[in-house]
Amino acid sequence: MTAEPILDLAALAAVPTQKGTTVEYRGVTRVFGSTAALDGLDLRIEPGELLALLGPSGCGKTTALRLLAGFDQPTSGSLLIDGSDVTRTPASKRDMGMVFQSYSLFPTMTATDNVAFGLRMRKQGGTARRSRAVELLELVGLGEHVKKYPHQLSGGQQQRVALARALAVQPRVLLLDEPLSALDAKVREQLRDEIRRIQLELGVTTVFVTHDQEEALSMADRVGVMRAGRLEQCADPATLYDRPATPFVAEFVGAMNRLSGRVEAGGQVRVGSQVLPADGDRPQVGAQVTVLVRPEAMVVTADDAGEATVVVATFRGSSTRLRLLQTDGTEVLADIPSHRSAELTAGRRATIALLERPVLLATP
Ligand code: ATP
Repeated sequence: MTAEPILDLAALAAVPTQKGTTVEYRGVTRVFGSTAALDGLDLRIEPGELLALLGPSGCGKTTALRLLAGFDQPTSGSLLIDGSDVTRTPASKRDMGMVFQSYSLFPTMTATDNVAFGLRMRKQGGTARRSRAVELLELVGLGEHVKKYPHQLSGGQQQRVALARALAVQPRVLLLDEPLSALDAKVREQLRDEIRRIQLELGVTTVFVTHDQEEALSMADRVGVMRAGRLEQCADPATLYDRPATPFVAEFVGAMNRLSGRVEAGGQVRVGSQVLPADGDRPQVGAQVTVLVRPEAMVVTADDAGEATVVVATFRGSSTRLRLLQTDGTEVLADIPSHRSAELTAGRRATIALLERPVLLATP
């Protein structure tokens, strides 16, 4: 794989955009037969914000995006752009730039012509169109490839062309529907960073649909976690990760262990021999509960008399993920600093403790 050129920030300065657009979903519902793909979505996206819609397959992310693009109409509720109701405005009049999972470039057009295509639709003159297309291709690091056809470009490069094309029309809102999921890991990560930099520089309000939590958390200002057509929580990545509003969010965003515990007085919960503060609902004292604990909140120590056995240790760079089996048959995941993992190889006995921090309770 060849390294992709980096962003041309000088070219960025030359790209005019429409800044500061707000987007609002007001009680938006979309029903297909007996399925509510979206069920009363209320969401406001601030000017220049990158909002990621995250959730499992079928939760309604794409439906939410298609409604905003104008490719589909809500069953009820309304959509506002900069405060104006666009619910019945046709897609061609909404000024949206879209990038899809499949590159969706015209195979018989060069990169330049693909980017210029949207401008042709908007009746810009030929020379202005081409020079703007080249400017945008430079912006996405494809200055050397302006005359190439899609089949002469890698997947990552094709997706850059698609991004340049979406930006060419100076969209009021940029809509990205799983734009990185067809790419391999390294290109995906690089393009992810570049999309975010371009988005920040241009200040274009962006809605990004993904089922990849790492992608959502690393790119977005706020992440809306969806489940069955509803928004479970919408918050900045750190809040979502550290203070998930529901057990669904806790388990969908990041890895989570489910341990059993018992509620004690004073909002505390006993897990094994430890007593920790509990976040969220406080069931009555004595109740058996499920306690949600992140892998990085587990402290694992090699110990021949320990109650757990390391099943697999996976090196992940600065941390190592351990999968451990406890004597009661439950499995737990623990992320420990790699420099402390030397002894914790498969088959080793170990003791597990929890960091002294609040835990989230789930209904068992
Ligand atoms: P994925 O990640 O798999 O694309 P998603 O979260 O984007 O999923 P949607 O595509 O929005 O989900 O679909 C939400 C629900 O609406 C699903 O149950 C889906 O089957 C249904 N649905 C979506 N579009 C249609 C349609 N045109 N006709 C009938 N049902 C549909």
